[in-house]
Amino acid sequence: MNDVQAMERLGEARGQGLAAIETASSLEELRAAEVAALGRRSPVAEVQRSLGTIDLADRPRIGREVNRVFEDLRAAVAARRVALEAEAEADVALTDRIDVTLPGRRPPPGGLHPLTSTMRAVVDAFISLGYRVSEGPELETEWYNFDALNFPPDHPARLTQDTLYPDVPGDLLLRTHTSPVQIRTMEAQEPPIYVVIPGRCFRRDTPDATHLPVFQQVEILAVDEGLSLADMKGTLEAWARAMFGPDQRVRIYPDYFPFVEPGAGLDVSCFLCGGRGCRVCGNGWIELLGAGMVHPALFENTGIDPERYSGFAAGLGIERVAMLLHGVPDIRMFYEGDVRFLSQLARSA
Ligand SMILES: [Zn+2]
Repeated sequence: MNDVQAMERLGEARGQGLAAIETASSLEELRAAEVAALGRRSPVAEVQRSLGTIDLADRPRIGREVNRVFEDLRAAVAARRVALEAEAEADVALTDRIDVTLPGRRPPPGGLHPLTSTMRAVVDAFISLGYRVSEGPELETEWYNFDALNFPPDHPARLTQDTLYPDVPGDLLLRTHTSPVQIRTMEAQEPPIYVVIPGRCFRRDTPDATHLPVFQQVEILAVDEGLSLADMKGTLEAWARAMFGPDQRVRIYPDYFPFVEPGAGLDVSCFLCGGRGCRVCGNGWIELLGAGMVHPALFENTGIDPERYSGFAAGLGIERVAMLLHGVPDIRMFYEGDVRFLSQLARSA
């Protein structure tokens, strides 16, 4: 072997050895690569054994190169061993912490809030009767919330609907009922009108078991030629049957709201006991809606001819329906956000 051949062999041995060491993916593979690159039968060891055949003048240079290749290969083995041992330790630590045989944790599925599902059921029942949804702003003017609905400024009914007046320009207030949307709809649309109006309302009430300063209403408005109290009663009975079951009955009695004439309260036969009488209803009837024939003053305020058209309106509180449906004793429970309570009543969307 001459010096050129020896240098070539050493170069190859170094390159192949380093490649095998650096790609070893386990301690076993690393040991095999170490034996192949540094062992007695390795190419470097072979050159070392042949040093005696190389010219005396070249021998020290080749000898130094042999030592250098050995050192590089040993250093590569040591570095790779440290890396592989660290990986193995990390694997052990990970399997100690995580029991991969445990079933995964399933995130709890979301559901509809009971007020949302109740609201949808009420609105859907009216939609199935041919009504369409109409909505309006929560921040209203005094005109739409009171005056146009036949509540004059000195009317005592305003006292029961005291509200919040935000500190903004204009005579704005937080609406106390969804009825302003009746006015907005009649202004925007010619009869026949059949709308169902869902929405959030506000009053200056102190929270207790049956009152909240923020609550939700649904109301309906029908305006057409020849509508009578009989149409109102039939419509609300059809709604009660769609909502609570085919055997529901309704009864009406006189009541007062400024924007209807005559005004009526409407009871639904108790959907908990079937009308026989129970702890919730007492006498078999549940007071559920306020209703009545649209007051002629509203037609005058919105430019609809009261000689030609008549109409009826009815409204109810969503929280009250949901309390009755689910037997919830305190209205505040719907707004406390306690998942233990809500998950019992949640419906999937
Ligand atoms: Zn009952």
